[in-house]
Amino acid sequence: MNMRLHAFEPASRSNGPGLRAVVWFQGCTLACPGCFNPDAHDPEGGQTCDTEDLTRQILEAKQTVEGVSISGGEPFQQPEALLDLLQRMKECGLSRLVFTGFTLDEAKALPLGPQILACVDILVAGRYVRSRHVGQGLIGSSNQRIHCLTTRYRPSDFVGIPASEIILHRDGSITLTGVSPRRMGH
Ligand code: SF4
Repeated sequence: MNMRLHAFEPASRSNGPGLRAVVWFQGCTLACPGCFNPDAHDPEGGQTCDTEDLTRQILEAKQTVEGVSISGGEPFQQPEALLDLLQRMKECGLSRLVFTGFTLDEAKALPLGPQILACVDILVAGRYVRSRHVGQGLIGSSNQRIHCLTTRYRPSDFVGIPASEIILHRDGSITLTGVSPRRMGH
């Protein structure tokens, strides 16, 4: 299934518990003032990608990563692709964490919301609010909530997640990720 991709990182430690692949969806209309990733807002930006190809790339890293984190941009604004990707990750046994600017109640009411949430272990939910900035662990601002939707993780699993991370790739490229000051989404 086609989707609009902002970025992909095969192994990160600052986007959830343990070592995780990270997929940043392209496109977000929520327009939080102070968003750290405005380049991910344009729904026509980024690049077209096939969820099957993306799954293949993630599985290449499966021996080292314990799960996938999905961020953006706003993943719930590409609901069909989000559901497709999550179902593929679930079939592979990888844990699933999703960052969204929507609250949990809002996400439940979105198209495919209940089906998507049924595939998610952890939902980090809520708009980024600059006046309530904290930039610690998985949380960009204090209004955001971490919802454990399955029993796979416990609150203690979120302690000590680095707030930012610099990843050096073999080709010399660099990825800056994590929550403030270098967070790539939400
Ligand atoms: S913080 Fe997240 S929800 Fe808010 S505008 Fe940025 S990408 Fe969208």
